Amino acid sequence: MDERLFRTAMSKFTTGVTVITTEVDGDIHGMTANAFMSVSLDPKLVLISVGNRAKMKGYIDLSSTFAVNLLSRSQENVSKQFAGQINDKNTAVFTEFSGLPVIDKALASIACDVHDTTIQGDHTLYIGKVRDVVVTDAEPLTFYSGNYGMIS
Ligand code: FAD
Repeated sequence: MDERLFRTAMSKFTTGVTVITTEVDGDIHGMTANAFMSVSLDPKLVLISVGNRAKMKGYIDLSSTFAVNLLSRSQENVSKQFAGQINDKNTAVFTEFSGLPVIDKALASIACDVHDTTIQGDHTLYIGKVRDVVVTDAEPLTFYSGNYGMIS
């Protein structure tokens, strides 16, 4: 199968956009990700998929913790910053929640401890056991067919 066709098919799945955050030796790191899902209610588990070549993989492996920050519509530049598409450190405002750095004014932030890990192909799946969540009320940032906020 052609790789471009596979990528195109996957891009037809409309998602929200998250930034994964963690802290190692006092330094905060973030990475934009849309490979996120809720896994279990009892216990409360979520899943993220991180490329094996992403720096974030090393950081999560060291910290054994991460937060998933669901972005609001007004946070497109936050997504671009943590995807390496722009370089404007001012877009990144962090706050602390449940012992982890989280993105200020995210729709929701989910603080997790790594519960399980499995390497699958060129990505690593991290199952996070949820410590705590915080929720705000705003419109979501969406991603479809390689574009933000475009559903058609
Ligand atoms: P870097 O490339 O070093 O970090 C990413 C960017 O974040 C850099 O520009 C860096 O300057 C900035 N940054 C990091 N920490 C801070 C900080 N404290 N303050 C300010 N800026 C900071 N990849 C996946 O593996 N899984 C996915 O599910 C996924 N989904 C994506 C969804 C979308 C919509 C997009 C646009 C990209 C997605 N990516 C995904 C790709 C991923 O975001 C990029 O490949 C990213 O650059 C990988 O980051 P890195 O961990 O290698 O670190």
